[in-house]
Amino acid sequence: MTYGHWHYPTEIIAREGCTNKLADYCRNTGIHRPLLITDHELAETKMVRNIISGCCEADLPVELFSHIQSNPTGANVEAGIKHFVDGRHDGIIALGGGSSIDVAKAVALVARQAFPLWDFVHQDENWQKADPEQIAPVIAIPTTAGTGSEVGRASIIKDELEHKKKIIYHPKMMPKLVLLDPILTLDLPPELTAATGMDALSHSLEALCTHTFHPMSDAIALESMRIISHYLPVAYMEGQNLNARFEMQIAACMAATAFQKGVGATHALSHTLGAIYDKHHGLLNAILLPYVLSANKDHINEKMIRMGRYLALPRPDFHAVMAWLLSLRTELNIPHTLAAIDIDSKEAERIGEIAASDPSAASNPIHFTAEQYAEIFTNAVKGTLIYQ
Ligand SMILES: [Zn+2]
Repeated sequence: MTYGHWHYPTEIIAREGCTNKLADYCRNTGIHRPLLITDHELAETKMVRNIISGCCEADLPVELFSHIQSNPTGANVEAGIKHFVDGRHDGIIALGGGSSIDVAKAVALVARQAFPLWDFVHQDENWQKADPEQIAPVIAIPTTAGTGSEVGRASIIKDELEHKKKIIYHPKMMPKLVLLDPILTLDLPPELTAATGMDALSHSLEALCTHTFHPMSDAIALESMRIISHYLPVAYMEGQNLNARFEMQIAACMAATAFQKGVGATHALSHTLGAIYDKHHGLLNAILLPYVLSANKDHINEKMIRMGRYLALPRPDFHAVMAWLLSLRTELNIPHTLAAIDIDSKEAERIGEIAASDPSAASNPIHFTAEQYAEIFTNAVKGTLIYQ
């Protein structure tokens, strides 16, 4: 008989306007000198100014750190650690998309440890080097509905020397509290709404397809995909639709909860391409997903029937799911090829090799070789989508 060793997420408050009580939530979480980590674009917005002034009015001094790239680097984390230590902060408010939240979680993990960042790369028992008592508390406030980093125990950080994204992991690096406030996502532009929403979908779909035994995750993955199928097109077309934004925030959070079971070849390739070409993670997943599904087809047919039934697709099977996915992509104006975002196939061999060694490759339903990854990548560059 198989067995499970499962973890489940953290405290989540999902309510319109819940960030207005951020100062109270900080104190309740034991944070009295927070460092607010966000990206440089958000740092210039009224949203961030309001959050900082709200905390200051409640006598909670907040400092800002925003030197973060969209594919965050080790240097970004090191700079954040310096701010955290120099400012004698005791906790972090992580505000933004996956990049900000990933950097915030990595800073919180490493800032007070005796070992540097790359010593916590997710392999062997590296995480045991950390003193869990010294991990700073994090309150995560996502401003997109996609990555789900707010409920993850890992950060994806780019090693600039190796041009490779690495997973930094500790079982206790998940934020202590997550605030899902749909108001913060109202102004997300349509193309980012689409890309981040498709990232959430790719989390659920890949989690469902992996063979890891985790029925609870499977159920959460299915329900998050049902919510995404209803509300992603609405959020894309009507950005100010608060209900659609709320549903998408919850679906993204659920999708990330589901993918603690693992993701797969879509993410193995998108991590690789994100590190080399600096393209948006969600957009890469959105383009790659059908090509990976078609390569996985023989091993996921039963799951595609289950998914098709749950989404109430006509004649639910692999083909129905593929047709639904392609039509959703068209509705969201996602390009069909990587060529459309200026990626060519010259580096296919190297990309295949890096993708095959990406940690996400391990949970794909089929163990693809480097050559097979190179072929999937080349198909996605050219738009060659073959399945029967
Ligand atoms: Zn992702």
